[in-house]
Amino acid sequence: MTGRDVIYLDCNASTPCDPRVVEAMLPFFTAVAANPASRNHRPGREALTALEDAREVVARCVGAGSATEIVFTSGASEANNLALTGAAEALAPRRRHLLTQATEHPSVLEPLRRLAARGWELTVLGVGRDGRVRLDELAAALRDDTALVSLMLANNETGAVQPVAGAAVLAHRRGAVLHCDAAQGAGKLPLDAAALAADLLTVSGHKVYGPKGIGALCLRGGAALRPVPQILGGGHEGGLRSGTPNLPGAIGLARALELAAAELPDESARVAALRDRLEQVLLARLDGCTVNAAGAPRLPGTSNLGFAGVEGAALLASLPDVAVGTGSACASSHPEPSPVLLAMGVERALAASSLRLSLGRFTTAAEVERAAGRIADEVLRLRALRRRPRA
Ligand SMILES: *Cc1c(COP(=O)(O)O)cnc(C)c1O
Repeated sequence: MTGRDVIYLDCNASTPCDPRVVEAMLPFFTAVAANPASRNHRPGREALTALEDAREVVARCVGAGSATEIVFTSGASEANNLALTGAAEALAPRRRHLLTQATEHPSVLEPLRRLAARGWELTVLGVGRDGRVRLDELAAALRDDTALVSLMLANNETGAVQPVAGAAVLAHRRGAVLHCDAAQGAGKLPLDAAALAADLLTVSGHKVYGPKGIGALCLRGGAALRPVPQILGGGHEGGLRSGTPNLPGAIGLARALELAAAELPDESARVAALRDRLEQVLLARLDGCTVNAAGAPRLPGTSNLGFAGVEGAALLASLPDVAVGTGSACASSHPEPSPVLLAMGVERALAASSLRLSLGRFTTAAEVERAAGRIADEVLRLRALRRRPRA
Protein backbone atom coordinates (compact mmCIF):
# COMPACT_ATOMS: atom_id res chain seq x y z
CA MET A 1 0.00 0.00 0.00
CA THR A 2 1.37 3.43 -0.90
CA GLY A 3 0.64 6.63 0.98
CA ARG A 4 -1.86 7.56 -1.72
CA ASP A 5 -4.17 4.66 -0.88
CA VAL A 6 -4.34 5.69 2.75
CA ILE A 7 -7.30 7.75 3.96
CA TYR A 8 -5.71 10.76 5.61
CA LEU A 9 -7.50 11.69 8.82
CA ASP A 10 -4.61 13.38 10.61
CA CYS A 11 -5.10 17.00 9.55
CA ASN A 12 -4.37 18.31 13.06
CA ALA A 13 -0.83 16.94 12.74
CA SER A 14 -0.31 18.55 9.36
CA THR A 15 -2.38 19.50 6.35
CA PRO A 16 -1.47 19.05 2.71
CA CYS A 17 -0.46 22.30 1.05
CA ASP A 18 -3.38 23.62 -1.02
CA PRO A 19 -2.41 23.67 -4.74
CA ARG A 20 -3.45 27.35 -4.85
CA VAL A 21 -0.91 28.04 -2.11
CA VAL A 22 1.82 26.16 -4.00
CA GLU A 23 1.02 28.16 -7.12
CA ALA A 24 1.38 31.45 -5.24
CA MET A 25 4.70 30.33 -3.75
CA LEU A 26 6.42 28.94 -6.85
CA PRO A 27 7.83 32.19 -8.31
CA PHE A 28 9.46 32.93 -4.99
CA PHE A 29 11.68 29.86 -5.21
CA THR A 30 13.03 30.80 -8.64
CA ALA A 31 12.12 34.15 -10.21
CA VAL A 32 12.37 36.18 -7.00
CA ALA A 33 15.62 34.82 -5.64
CA ALA A 34 17.01 37.81 -3.76
CA ASN A 35 17.30 38.22 -0.02
CA PRO A 36 14.62 40.65 1.19
CA ALA A 37 17.32 42.17 3.40
CA SER A 38 19.40 43.16 0.32
CA ARG A 39 18.10 46.69 -0.07
CA ASN A 40 20.95 47.87 -2.25
CA HIS A 41 19.62 46.29 -5.44
CA ARG A 42 16.34 46.07 -7.22
CA PRO A 43 15.73 42.28 -6.89
CA GLY A 44 16.26 42.64 -3.15
CA ARG A 45 13.81 45.49 -2.96
CA GLU A 46 11.25 43.46 -4.95
CA ALA A 47 11.65 40.57 -2.54
CA LEU A 48 11.18 42.97 0.38
CA THR A 49 8.01 44.39 -1.15
CA ALA A 50 6.60 40.87 -1.58
CA LEU A 51 7.49 40.01 2.04
CA GLU A 52 5.83 43.15 3.33
CA ASP A 53 2.73 42.51 1.22
CA ALA A 54 2.51 39.02 2.72
CA ARG A 55 2.88 40.55 6.17
CA GLU A 56 -0.08 42.88 5.46
CA VAL A 57 -2.24 39.93 4.46
CA VAL A 58 -1.28 37.88 7.52
CA ALA A 59 -1.99 40.89 9.76
CA ARG A 60 -5.44 41.30 8.23
CA CYS A 61 -6.23 37.58 8.50
CA VAL A 62 -5.32 37.27 12.20
CA GLY A 63 -6.91 40.54 13.29
CA ALA A 64 -3.69 42.44 13.98
CA GLY A 65 -3.82 46.23 14.06
CA SER A 66 -1.05 46.62 11.48
CA ALA A 67 1.60 44.70 9.57
CA THR A 68 4.27 45.87 12.00
CA GLU A 69 2.68 43.57 14.59
CA ILE A 70 3.57 40.40 12.62
CA VAL A 71 6.85 38.52 13.16
CA PHE A 72 7.49 35.63 10.79
CA THR A 73 8.95 32.55 12.45
CA SER A 74 9.74 28.98 11.42
CA GLY A 75 6.39 27.77 12.77
CA ALA A 76 4.16 27.76 15.80
CA SER A 77 6.74 26.09 18.05
CA GLU A 78 9.18 28.93 17.50
CA ALA A 79 6.45 31.58 17.81
CA ASN A 80 5.36 30.07 21.14
CA ASN A 81 8.95 29.99 22.42
CA LEU A 82 9.50 33.61 21.39
CA ALA A 83 6.19 34.73 22.90
CA LEU A 84 6.61 32.98 26.24
CA THR A 85 10.33 33.15 26.94
CA GLY A 86 10.57 36.55 25.27
CA ALA A 87 7.66 38.07 27.19
CA ALA A 88 8.67 36.48 30.51
CA GLU A 89 12.19 37.90 30.15
CA ALA A 90 10.85 41.30 29.13
CA LEU A 91 8.48 41.53 32.11
CA ALA A 92 10.95 40.27 34.73
CA PRO A 93 11.89 40.92 37.44
CA ARG A 94 8.71 42.73 38.50
CA ARG A 95 6.43 39.98 37.21
CA ARG A 96 7.71 36.47 37.76
CA HIS A 97 4.54 34.37 37.76
CA LEU A 98 3.40 32.43 34.68
CA LEU A 99 -0.02 30.86 34.25
CA THR A 100 -1.22 28.21 31.81
CA GLN A 101 -3.30 25.04 31.69
CA ALA A 102 -2.49 21.36 31.42
CA THR A 103 -3.56 20.57 27.84
CA GLU A 104 -1.38 23.14 26.10
CA HIS A 105 0.90 22.01 23.28
CA PRO A 106 4.42 20.92 24.35
CA SER A 107 5.83 24.00 22.59
CA VAL A 108 4.01 26.07 25.23
CA LEU A 109 4.52 23.81 28.25
CA GLU A 110 8.22 23.13 27.71
CA PRO A 111 9.37 26.78 27.48
CA LEU A 112 7.28 27.53 30.57
CA ARG A 113 8.87 24.60 32.41
CA ARG A 114 12.30 25.83 31.47
CA LEU A 115 11.42 29.28 32.78
CA ALA A 116 10.25 27.66 36.02
CA ALA A 117 13.64 25.92 36.27
CA ARG A 118 15.26 29.34 35.81
CA GLY A 119 13.39 30.89 38.74
CA TRP A 120 9.96 31.89 37.46
CA GLU A 121 6.89 30.59 39.29
CA LEU A 122 4.59 28.50 37.12
CA THR A 123 0.96 27.58 37.75
CA VAL A 124 -0.55 24.93 35.48
CA LEU A 125 -4.33 24.83 35.88
CA GLY A 126 -6.24 21.59 35.50
CA VAL A 127 -9.14 21.15 33.11
CA GLY A 128 -12.54 19.52 33.34
CA ARG A 129 -13.69 16.39 31.55
CA ASP A 130 -14.61 18.69 28.66
CA GLY A 131 -10.96 19.74 28.31
CA ARG A 132 -11.71 23.35 29.19
CA VAL A 133 -10.11 25.51 31.81
CA ARG A 134 -12.53 27.16 34.27
CA LEU A 135 -12.44 30.93 34.31
CA ASP A 136 -13.18 31.14 38.04
CA GLU A 137 -10.10 28.98 38.69
CA LEU A 138 -8.06 31.12 36.34
CA ALA A 139 -9.23 34.29 38.12
CA ALA A 140 -8.29 32.78 41.49
CA ALA A 141 -4.81 31.81 40.25
CA LEU A 142 -3.95 35.24 38.84
CA ARG A 143 -1.62 37.33 40.98
CA ASP A 144 -0.37 40.89 41.00
CA ASP A 145 2.98 39.58 39.76
CA THR A 146 1.54 37.39 37.00
CA ALA A 147 3.44 38.22 33.83
CA LEU A 148 1.45 36.22 31.34
CA VAL A 149 -1.35 33.77 30.79
CA SER A 150 -1.02 31.29 27.93
CA LEU A 151 -4.23 29.70 26.69
CA MET A 152 -4.67 27.91 23.37
CA LEU A 153 -7.56 28.74 21.07
CA ALA A 154 -8.37 25.06 20.51
CA ASN A 155 -6.73 21.82 21.51
CA ASN A 156 -4.86 19.80 18.89
CA GLU A 157 -5.96 16.42 20.28
CA THR A 158 -9.59 16.95 21.25
CA GLY A 159 -10.55 20.12 19.38
CA ALA A 160 -11.88 21.60 22.65
CA VAL A 161 -12.14 25.38 22.32
CA GLN A 162 -10.87 27.38 25.27
CA PRO A 163 -12.52 30.55 26.65
CA VAL A 164 -9.69 32.81 25.46
CA ALA A 165 -11.55 36.14 25.35
CA GLY A 166 -12.77 35.65 28.91
CA ALA A 167 -9.27 34.73 30.07
CA ALA A 168 -7.87 37.87 28.41
CA VAL A 169 -10.28 40.10 30.34
CA LEU A 170 -9.21 38.48 33.62
CA ALA A 171 -5.50 38.64 32.76
CA HIS A 172 -5.67 42.29 31.78
CA ARG A 173 -7.44 43.20 35.02
CA ARG A 174 -4.32 42.06 36.85
CA GLY A 175 -1.93 43.67 34.38
CA ALA A 176 -0.84 40.36 32.82
CA VAL A 177 -0.56 39.76 29.07
CA LEU A 178 -2.40 37.00 27.29
CA HIS A 179 -0.74 34.67 24.79
CA CYS A 180 -2.91 32.47 22.61
CA ASP A 181 -1.56 29.53 20.62
CA ALA A 182 -4.02 29.63 17.72
CA ALA A 183 -2.16 27.04 15.60
CA GLN A 184 -5.16 24.71 15.67
CA GLY A 185 -7.97 27.26 15.80
CA ALA A 186 -6.70 29.23 12.81
CA GLY A 187 -8.49 28.35 9.60
CA LYS A 188 -11.17 26.42 11.49
CA LEU A 189 -12.68 29.15 13.67
CA PRO A 190 -13.01 32.85 12.93
CA LEU A 191 -9.62 34.27 13.92
CA ASP A 192 -9.40 37.76 15.38
CA ALA A 193 -6.65 38.62 17.83
CA ALA A 194 -8.41 41.92 18.59
CA ALA A 195 -11.74 40.24 19.41
CA LEU A 196 -9.92 37.70 21.59
CA ALA A 197 -7.97 40.60 23.15
CA ALA A 198 -4.85 38.42 22.83
CA ASP A 199 -1.63 40.40 23.20
CA LEU A 200 0.40 37.62 21.57
CA LEU A 201 -1.04 35.15 19.08
CA THR A 202 0.62 32.23 17.31
CA VAL A 203 -0.22 30.70 13.93
CA SER A 204 1.43 28.01 11.78
CA GLY A 205 1.41 27.53 8.00
CA HIS A 206 1.16 23.75 7.82
CA LYS A 207 -1.96 23.56 9.98
CA VAL A 208 -3.90 25.77 7.54
CA TYR A 209 -3.04 24.16 4.16
CA GLY A 210 0.11 26.24 3.87
CA PRO A 211 3.72 25.05 3.83
CA LYS A 212 5.70 23.55 6.70
CA GLY A 213 8.43 25.68 8.20
CA ILE A 214 6.62 29.00 8.44
CA GLY A 215 4.54 30.56 11.18
CA ALA A 216 3.94 33.93 12.71
CA LEU A 217 3.66 35.63 16.06
CA CYS A 218 1.24 38.52 16.23
CA LEU A 219 2.27 41.15 18.78
CA ARG A 220 -0.92 43.08 19.07
CA GLY A 221 -0.55 46.66 20.14
CA GLY A 222 3.03 46.62 18.85
CA ALA A 223 5.22 48.58 21.19
CA ALA A 224 3.33 47.84 24.43
CA LEU A 225 5.21 44.59 24.89
CA ARG A 226 8.46 43.79 23.17
CA PRO A 227 9.53 40.20 23.80
CA VAL A 228 13.25 39.65 24.28
CA PRO A 229 14.44 38.09 21.00
CA GLN A 230 15.52 34.48 21.26
CA ILE A 231 17.37 34.17 17.95
CA LEU A 232 20.10 36.78 17.60
CA GLY A 233 21.94 37.78 14.48
CA GLY A 234 21.32 40.26 11.71
CA GLY A 235 18.31 41.87 13.35
CA HIS A 236 15.68 40.75 10.86
CA GLU A 237 11.96 41.02 11.68
CA GLY A 238 12.40 44.25 13.56
CA GLY A 239 15.15 42.70 15.64
CA LEU A 240 12.78 40.10 17.07
CA ARG A 241 13.86 37.14 14.95
CA SER A 242 17.14 37.11 13.11
CA GLY A 243 17.66 34.97 10.04
CA THR A 244 16.99 35.45 6.34
CA PRO A 245 13.20 35.60 6.00
CA ASN A 246 11.52 32.55 4.46
CA LEU A 247 9.95 34.50 1.61
CA PRO A 248 8.23 31.58 -0.19
CA GLY A 249 6.95 30.44 3.21
CA ALA A 250 5.60 33.88 4.07
CA ILE A 251 3.85 34.10 0.69
CA GLY A 252 2.38 30.64 1.33
CA LEU A 253 1.23 31.46 4.86
CA ALA A 254 -0.47 34.64 3.64
CA ARG A 255 -2.25 32.85 0.78
CA ALA A 256 -3.25 29.97 3.04
CA LEU A 257 -4.76 32.24 5.70
CA GLU A 258 -6.53 34.26 3.02
CA LEU A 259 -8.10 31.15 1.47
CA ALA A 260 -9.08 29.74 4.86
CA ALA A 261 -10.80 32.98 5.85
CA ALA A 262 -12.68 33.21 2.55
CA GLU A 263 -13.88 29.61 2.70
CA LEU A 264 -14.38 29.28 6.44
CA PRO A 265 -18.19 29.44 6.82
CA ASP A 266 -18.97 26.83 4.15
CA GLU A 267 -15.95 24.68 4.90
CA SER A 268 -16.47 24.49 8.64
CA ALA A 269 -20.10 23.45 8.13
CA ARG A 270 -19.06 20.77 5.61
CA VAL A 271 -16.28 19.38 7.78
CA ALA A 272 -18.42 19.45 10.93
CA ALA A 273 -21.10 17.43 9.12
CA LEU A 274 -18.48 14.85 8.07
CA ARG A 275 -17.13 14.64 11.63
CA ASP A 276 -20.64 14.25 13.03
CA ARG A 277 -21.35 11.48 10.52
CA LEU A 278 -18.12 9.68 11.48
CA GLU A 279 -19.04 9.79 15.16
CA GLN A 280 -22.62 8.77 14.44
CA VAL A 281 -21.55 5.64 12.54
CA LEU A 282 -19.00 4.59 15.16
CA LEU A 283 -21.32 5.24 18.12
CA ALA A 284 -24.11 3.29 16.39
CA ARG A 285 -21.91 0.29 15.58
CA LEU A 286 -19.86 0.09 18.76
CA ASP A 287 -20.69 -0.20 22.42
CA GLY A 288 -18.11 1.34 24.70
CA CYS A 289 -17.21 4.11 22.26
CA THR A 290 -16.88 7.53 23.87
CA VAL A 291 -16.26 10.98 22.44
CA ASN A 292 -13.57 12.73 24.49
CA ALA A 293 -14.32 16.40 25.26
CA ALA A 294 -17.86 15.89 23.96
CA GLY A 295 -19.10 18.50 26.42
CA ALA A 296 -16.99 21.31 24.96
CA PRO A 297 -17.46 23.44 21.87
CA ARG A 298 -15.08 21.65 19.50
CA LEU A 299 -13.25 22.35 16.26
CA PRO A 300 -15.39 21.22 13.34
CA GLY A 301 -13.15 18.42 12.02
CA THR A 302 -11.70 16.94 15.20
CA SER A 303 -12.92 13.78 16.90
CA ASN A 304 -11.13 12.09 19.77
CA LEU A 305 -12.66 8.70 20.44
CA GLY A 306 -12.06 6.08 23.11
CA PHE A 307 -12.74 2.42 22.29
CA ALA A 308 -13.13 0.51 25.55
CA GLY A 309 -11.28 -2.81 25.57
CA VAL A 310 -8.77 -2.13 22.81
CA GLU A 311 -5.25 -0.68 22.78
CA GLY A 312 -5.01 2.47 20.68
CA ALA A 313 -1.59 1.35 19.44
CA ALA A 314 -2.93 -2.08 18.40
CA LEU A 315 -5.87 -0.44 16.67
CA LEU A 316 -3.53 1.88 14.78
CA ALA A 317 -1.38 -1.06 13.75
CA SER A 318 -4.39 -2.88 12.34
CA LEU A 319 -5.46 0.17 10.34
CA PRO A 320 -2.61 0.72 7.87
CA ASP A 321 -5.17 2.10 5.40
CA VAL A 322 -6.34 4.94 7.67
CA ALA A 323 -3.88 7.59 8.89
CA VAL A 324 -4.98 8.76 12.33
CA GLY A 325 -3.21 9.78 15.50
CA THR A 326 -3.02 8.73 19.10
CA GLY A 327 -2.48 11.93 21.01
CA SER A 328 -0.19 14.63 19.75
CA ALA A 329 1.92 13.87 16.69
CA CYS A 330 4.80 15.54 18.46
CA ALA A 331 4.73 12.92 21.22
CA SER A 332 3.66 9.83 19.30
CA SER A 333 7.00 8.14 19.85
CA HIS A 334 6.02 7.84 23.53
CA PRO A 335 3.97 4.75 24.38
CA GLU A 336 2.27 6.56 27.30
CA PRO A 337 -1.42 7.49 27.05
CA SER A 338 -2.06 11.07 26.02
CA PRO A 339 -1.28 13.58 28.80
CA VAL A 340 -4.10 15.72 27.41
CA LEU A 341 -6.69 13.01 28.01
CA LEU A 342 -5.20 12.13 31.41
CA ALA A 343 -5.39 15.81 32.41
CA MET A 344 -9.09 15.74 31.54
CA GLY A 345 -9.60 12.88 33.98
CA VAL A 346 -10.06 10.21 31.31
CA GLU A 347 -9.19 6.83 32.86
CA ARG A 348 -5.77 5.47 31.82
CA ALA A 349 -7.15 2.46 29.94
CA LEU A 350 -9.68 4.54 28.05
CA ALA A 351 -7.05 7.18 27.29
CA ALA A 352 -4.76 4.43 25.95
CA SER A 353 -7.60 3.20 23.74
CA SER A 354 -8.25 6.60 22.19
CA LEU A 355 -7.63 7.75 18.65
CA ARG A 356 -7.58 11.24 17.26
CA LEU A 357 -9.35 11.58 13.94
CA SER A 358 -8.94 14.95 12.26
CA LEU A 359 -10.71 15.74 9.01
CA GLY A 360 -10.02 18.61 6.69
CA ARG A 361 -10.45 20.43 3.41
CA PHE A 362 -9.69 17.43 1.22
CA THR A 363 -11.62 14.82 3.22
CA THR A 364 -14.56 13.38 1.28
CA ALA A 365 -17.83 11.83 2.44
CA ALA A 366 -16.82 8.53 0.81
CA GLU A 367 -13.56 8.49 2.78
CA VAL A 368 -15.45 9.09 6.03
CA GLU A 369 -17.82 6.19 5.32
CA ARG A 370 -14.91 3.87 4.49
CA ALA A 371 -12.83 4.92 7.48
CA ALA A 372 -15.74 4.59 9.91
CA GLY A 373 -16.47 1.10 8.61
CA ARG A 374 -12.83 0.03 8.83
CA ILE A 375 -12.36 1.39 12.35
CA ALA A 376 -15.54 -0.28 13.62
CA ASP A 377 -14.55 -3.60 11.98
CA GLU A 378 -11.09 -3.54 13.56
CA VAL A 379 -12.38 -2.58 17.02
CA LEU A 380 -14.81 -5.51 16.91
CA ARG A 381 -12.10 -7.87 15.63
CA LEU A 382 -9.62 -6.85 18.34
CA ARG A 383 -12.25 -7.18 21.05
CA ALA A 384 -13.19 -10.66 19.79
CA LEU A 385 -9.51 -11.71 19.86
CA ARG A 386 -9.23 -10.60 23.47
CA ARG A 387 -12.30 -12.55 24.49
CA ARG A 388 -11.14 -15.77 22.81
CA PRO A 389 -9.55 -18.00 25.47
CA ARG A 390 -5.90 -18.80 24.88
CA ALA A 391 -5.31 -22.31 23.50
C1 LIG B 1 1.10 21.84 15.48
C2 LIG B 1 0.95 22.71 16.67
C3 LIG B 1 2.02 23.48 17.13
C4 LIG B 1 3.40 23.41 16.51
O1 LIG B 1 3.39 23.97 15.23
P1 LIG B 1 4.70 23.88 14.29
O2 LIG B 1 4.41 24.92 13.25
O3 LIG B 1 4.72 22.50 13.76
O4 LIG B 1 5.88 24.21 15.12
C5 LIG B 1 1.81 24.29 18.22
N1 LIG B 1 0.62 24.35 18.83
C6 LIG B 1 -0.44 23.63 18.42
C7 LIG B 1 -1.74 23.74 19.14
C8 LIG B 1 -0.31 22.79 17.32
O5 LIG B 1 -1.36 22.06 16.92
